[in-house]
Amino acid sequence: MSTFPAYPTSRPRRLRTNQNIRALLQETRLSISDLICPIFVRHDSEKRPVQSMPGQYQHTLQSIVDEVKKVEQLGLKAIMLFGIPEKKDPEGSDNLSPNGIATKAIQIIKKTCPDLLVISDLCLCDYSDHGHCCIIDPANKTYLNEPTLEYLAKAAVIHAQAGADMLAPSGMMDGTVKAIRHRLDETGFTNTSIMCHSSKYASVLYGPFREAAECTIQFGDRKTYQIDPPNAREALKEMHIDIAEGADILMVKPASFYLDIIRQAHDNFETPIAAYQVSGEYSMIHAAADKGWLDLKSTTLESLMAIKRAGAQNIVTYFAKEAAQWIS
Ligand SMILES: [Zn+2]
Repeated sequence: MSTFPAYPTSRPRRLRTNQNIRALLQETRLSISDLICPIFVRHDSEKRPVQSMPGQYQHTLQSIVDEVKKVEQLGLKAIMLFGIPEKKDPEGSDNLSPNGIATKAIQIIKKTCPDLLVISDLCLCDYSDHGHCCIIDPANKTYLNEPTLEYLAKAAVIHAQAGADMLAPSGMMDGTVKAIRHRLDETGFTNTSIMCHSSKYASVLYGPFREAAECTIQFGDRKTYQIDPPNAREALKEMHIDIAEGADILMVKPASFYLDIIRQAHDNFETPIAAYQVSGEYSMIHAAADKGWLDLKSTTLESLMAIKRAGAQNIVTYFAKEAAQWIS
């Protein structure tokens, strides 16, 4: 640690006297290419607003065309796609179909904007009628790890065949990355990368997302697979394991309540770290701004800056489009 001469020789305020000197010394800079824009898509004739997430929509296979064009025009490099199937069943079978909503959406997006990176969410919860991230034993309602791995491996190949550049498994099943990596390599998709939700916490902040993705769980909770919020070392263990299994990017989710985890991930691993500013974080800022208690733009930009300062290289955020306009 350096030592500094005492006041009055040391006057840190000298370096804050005007905007130009503050800009010169800014340690963290937010750029448009840091941001990843989530997009929800469903079979429908018109896009539907998500009530609990102002400005967010469930897009249709038609409306995503203009949406991804706009995303690309704003300079964003990547989207994260969530499919909402017409029919949900216990096996989440829509996600294994070449005609499923995710497959169709990926194909349309890649045809519209071939260079825009498509990161597709890979989980069962959007597709299953029970809303859990795993296959369920109907007899005793237990969560089945290994059958879920087989499901995810199959879905990974289908998404990759449709044109997904990157897969984002978000279900926190043990062995997920290994199962997906192995199957992708076996089927020739060696360049399809994996952004694993390595440290996904059993957080209250996903509430508004459940409305957007229509994935409210019908029984039980996700605490046997998502990380317990008081734990940090457990998150690092998950990340160690995912790197060993072949994860290309590690994800911490949510972001703002877990900045310490992002920082520890950044300091412990060379693997790039992404963070997901989840629906609850988005909706809280919007709600406070709507009441006039906080300024939307400056609060959003400060929240994104904090996540980047903590060590996230990329941020999945529902503010991506607005932030891209504000940053440029
Ligand atoms: Zn899930």
